[in-house]
Amino acid sequence: MDLYEYQARELLAEQGIALPRGEYVTTADEAADAAARIGFPCVIKGQATIGHRGQAGAVKVAHNEGEARDLARRILPMSIHGHDVNGVLVAEAKNILHEYYVSISVDRSSRDFDVLATANGGTEVEEVARRNPESVKRLHIEALDDFDESAARSMAASIGFYHADIDQAADILLRMWRCFTENDATLVEINPLAKIGDPDDESSKSLCALDAKISLDGNAAFRHDGWSRFTDTGRHDPFEERAKALGLHYVHLHGQVGVIGNGAGLVMSSLDAVSGAGESQGTGVKPANFLDIGGGASASVMRDSLSIVLSDPQVRSVLINVYGGITSCRVVAEGILSAVDALDSHMPIIVRFDGNEASEGLAILDRASNPCISVCPTMEKAAAMAAEAAVEEDRK
Ligand code: GDP
Ligand code: MN
Repeated sequence: MDLYEYQARELLAEQGIALPRGEYVTTADEAADAAARIGFPCVIKGQATIGHRGQAGAVKVAHNEGEARDLARRILPMSIHGHDVNGVLVAEAKNILHEYYVSISVDRSSRDFDVLATANGGTEVEEVARRNPESVKRLHIEALDDFDESAARSMAASIGFYHADIDQAADILLRMWRCFTENDATLVEINPLAKIGDPDDESSKSLCALDAKISLDGNAAFRHDGWSRFTDTGRHDPFEERAKALGLHYVHLHGQVGVIGNGAGLVMSSLDAVSGAGESQGTGVKPANFLDIGGGASASVMRDSLSIVLSDPQVRSVLINVYGGITSCRVVAEGILSAVDALDSHMPIIVRFDGNEASEGLAILDRASNPCISVCPTMEKAAAMAAEAAVEEDRK
């Protein structure tokens, strides 16, 4: 789960990392009020779970209340590379003397943790790292090891923090590590970690986190009360909320063909097959959702799944694509019949089974001779049938 900057700042602040004062708001008027409290100049920063907001024009400096309101009004409706801005952070503007980059992340290929740092931080960090890879220092931390003060200090010294900053940089790296481990994060990134202050007054200078990017490991949500403090923002898709409460892996996609399958890869291919069919049939029919019922799907899981998918008023047909492994197709077939019965559904449902007890499952569906349920042996054909059925159902 990717946090917004204003949420990531909370986690950094809990570890005592220095941040500019800031307030998160969702309207232009609130932004003007927040700016008046914080003082000028201040930065108006669009909140979206994607980087490069600065380059997209979603980070701007305001010098007075009117300007803060106008900038917020311009930034709030933005979408940055497909990620909607959900509010703005109004933050104290700092005088930047230098920008560093520091991050701690999970390295999936070496199955350990990576601390990355460079003295060439800022918005161009990827480009600089490409041109000048030796400027980026990397330290691996073994999965069961800790990151200690001496490692943090030698890391800070190696990337070229000014001599006077090494202590503070090492301290920040250690606090980031604590933030990373205590929150089961997969990424904690500060870019820029800025050297701020008055260039002529040495005592005014310090390091400050001017941006914060944190991703949390979804598999660890149960250890953190589901991260309800970050997810209870009241801007949720009602279908996704219900599916989550039922423990289903569901993503609402707003097309016409409900898609249910077992295994994320199979469901993704099914989505592609439905979109492909809609395109080649010239109807533009699209998948209504992603729903992975996982392994060992029982009749009750199938009932819950179908009830979510069928409650979406845009759905006109359903494709159920199951590869029987642990899951027996026979059990899934029984689940489908009992779900259709319980929900009194008349929506066209196209079923494709393969693998464990596929022929038994198909035979059960055949014997039921429900006119709304069709079976099909291949995914492409089943997707094409579901896309056609959606158009036909819409004409009714
Ligand atoms: P990103 O583009 O999504 O990474 O957003 P950032 O929060 O990193 O902001 C982009 C850039 O805006 C930073 O790299 C800074 O150069 C600049 N910026 C952010 N906050 C301040 C600030 O308080 N003062 C100044 N002068 N520049 C800032
Ligand atoms: Mn940044």
